[in-house]
Amino acid sequence: MPDGEASKSAGGVSDEVGVRVKFNCRYLGRLEDWWHAAGTTAEQREKFDANLLTMACALEWMQDRGAAPVAPDGRLAGNAAAVLARTAGGVGGDDQLTLLVSRSGRAQGPSDTERDFCVVTSFDFTAWSCGYYASSSEIQPTSDTPLHWSALLESRTASVSLHGHAFETEAKAAAINVPCSNVETLFSTPEDTAALVELMRQHPYPRCRMYIRRGHGFVILGSSFPQAEALLDAKLHILRVGKPSKRQWLLAAVLCVILSACVSLLVLR
Ligand SMILES: [Zn+2]
Repeated sequence: MPDGEASKSAGGVSDEVGVRVKFNCRYLGRLEDWWHAAGTTAEQREKFDANLLTMACALEWMQDRGAAPVAPDGRLAGNAAAVLARTAGGVGGDDQLTLLVSRSGRAQGPSDTERDFCVVTSFDFTAWSCGYYASSSEIQPTSDTPLHWSALLESRTASVSLHGHAFETEAKAAAINVPCSNVETLFSTPEDTAALVELMRQHPYPRCRMYIRRGHGFVILGSSFPQAEALLDAKLHILRVGKPSKRQWLLAAVLCVILSACVSLLVLR
C-alpha cells in the first residue's frame, strides 16, 4: 500500500486507518551518526553515495511511467531499497543486512536526497520492529521495508528492490508472465511479507526477478537499479502493446532465416 502517511506513533503497531507503517520504528540518529557509527565501513558509505542518486532516479522513473501511482492522499504508492551491506549469517542463520530505503510518505516530484531516504540497520521479524537512521526523527522508512528486507534476504544475492502498485492483479500477472501470490493480506504486516517469501521459494531468484502480491503490487529484484528498471520497462511495454502474436513470432523467425541465408551467400562469394 502507499506510503502516504507516516505513523503518528513511531513506537506502536496499529491497524488504525491512515497509519501506513505497521512495525515499530526505533530512531537511532541522523545519517551523519550512521556514517560515524562504530562498525560502519568506508565501503558501506561508498555504496550509500552510489545508491542514493540511482535510487532517486529509479523512483522518479517509476513515477513518470505510472508504476508508482499517486494514492488518494496525494502520496506515492511506490518505493525502493538497496543493500549497503550483507554479512553472511552462518549455518541456518539469516544474513545481516543494512539497507538504504525510501521514506514513508514521499510526495510527487523529484526526490529530496536529504529527507526522502533512511538507512535501516536492523529488522526484527519476531518483534516486528526496525532500527534506522534518517535526517530527522519525523521521517520513517517506507511501510514496505519488511517486504524489501525479506525479498533481498531470500534472494541471497540481489542488491536492489523496486516496488510499486502498477501490477496487483492475477490478470496482469498472467499478461506479463510473472508469478502472483494467491492471498490478499493487509500491507506492511508479517502476513504480507510471508506471502511474498512463499512465492519466492516457489520461483527462486535470479531465475525469476519479478513477483506480484495480489491486491498489493509488484516487487522487482536485481543487481542494479538500471537492470530492475529494464525489466519493469519490458513488462510495461507488454501491457501497453500486448505480447507478440504467434504470427508475429513466425514472421520474425522467417526473416531471421532469410537474413542468415543472405549473410551465408555473401560469405561464400
Ligand atoms: Zn506497497
